[in-house]
Amino acid sequence: MVLWKSGPEDRILENVLSGGRLTPAEALFLYDEGDFLKIQYAAREMRMRLNPPADVTYTMFRVVNYTNYCNVHCTFCSFMDEIGKGQGYVLSRDEVLTKMEEAVSLGARQMFLQGGVNPELPFDYYLDILRAVKERFGPDLHIRAFSPVELMNMETITGLSLGQVLETLKSAGLDSVPGAGAEILTERMRAILAPQKASVADWVRVMETCHEHGLPGSANIVFGSEETRAEVIEHLNVIRSLQDRTGGFFSFIPWTFQKQTKKFFVRNVTTPEYLKVLGITRLFLDNIRHIETSIMVLGPAVGGLALHSGADDISSIVLEENVLRSYGLKSEEKARELISENGFNPLRRTLNYQVDAPVRA
Ligand code: SF4
Repeated sequence: MVLWKSGPEDRILENVLSGGRLTPAEALFLYDEGDFLKIQYAAREMRMRLNPPADVTYTMFRVVNYTNYCNVHCTFCSFMDEIGKGQGYVLSRDEVLTKMEEAVSLGARQMFLQGGVNPELPFDYYLDILRAVKERFGPDLHIRAFSPVELMNMETITGLSLGQVLETLKSAGLDSVPGAGAEILTERMRAILAPQKASVADWVRVMETCHEHGLPGSANIVFGSEETRAEVIEHLNVIRSLQDRTGGFFSFIPWTFQKQTKKFFVRNVTTPEYLKVLGITRLFLDNIRHIETSIMVLGPAVGGLALHSGADDISSIVLEENVLRSYGLKSEEKARELISENGFNPLRRTLNYQVDAPVRA
């Protein structure tokens, strides 16, 4: 029973809460004209049905960016360095191990390995790191690594099929993949964001193959540039269709672009717009169980509101150099406080959404 004054979006929201599937046209109507509070209410209701109502989860992992040399030139990226200019870096296997040593000492049992697309690195470089991390920290340390564009580079440098690349990485220790590098999955926006990056078809092909080879993960959207609202919905539809075929996404995360370069336009996404998109995401992606919000990007105030607007997870306590310096050991405690202050039980989870520790408050 929906308890609000009748409006044009009511039939759509009632249908979704009765088990119907939101169409792209309906989702776009909600984005353009839907009442924010009604969407928020419906998304929260859906979240409560799909996940334990009292719990909110978080996880902890170390990000290791193994190189910043990259030949993709995304217009929004300030991380990459030109290959051949000698100003960037490539981490050695031992440097990666040292970074993981620090994270393990802080209680993390998961690594997120990602870097620029650097064709000068041989395939063995990646295999050595995966094997060394598993050898040092044990087979239970979870390694999530490599976005579609990095995996495509491995196809090129090895001449192997993507399936063969994935099986080799798996036997070296790869456990799951991030659905990274999606940003906005429309060809028009990809021409603006990163003309040399994976096309929509490539991104879908790589993720679908990962899922088929037992490498699940997450998916995301990054919005707040020149994309149209219809393109946001088109992106969600690409993800939902892929998930219908594979079931390989544990979660979906709506992010907003952060201003990094002068070449790329970033607009101000207001809190109501972010929460509206998050709510529509919860309602549209009926086949993805978890919706994450990122307190690292959006801050604790918006993150707290998101937990009442469709999200059931605050994403990750990301341990990396800058974060270690600014948050240190208190980061997990802060995450748990934020969840508790918003009225939920904090539960620590693994990257694959298993309960990670008996930490129910
Ligand atoms: S692929 Fe990654 S590292 Fe390379 S330019 Fe794009 S965002 Fe930056």
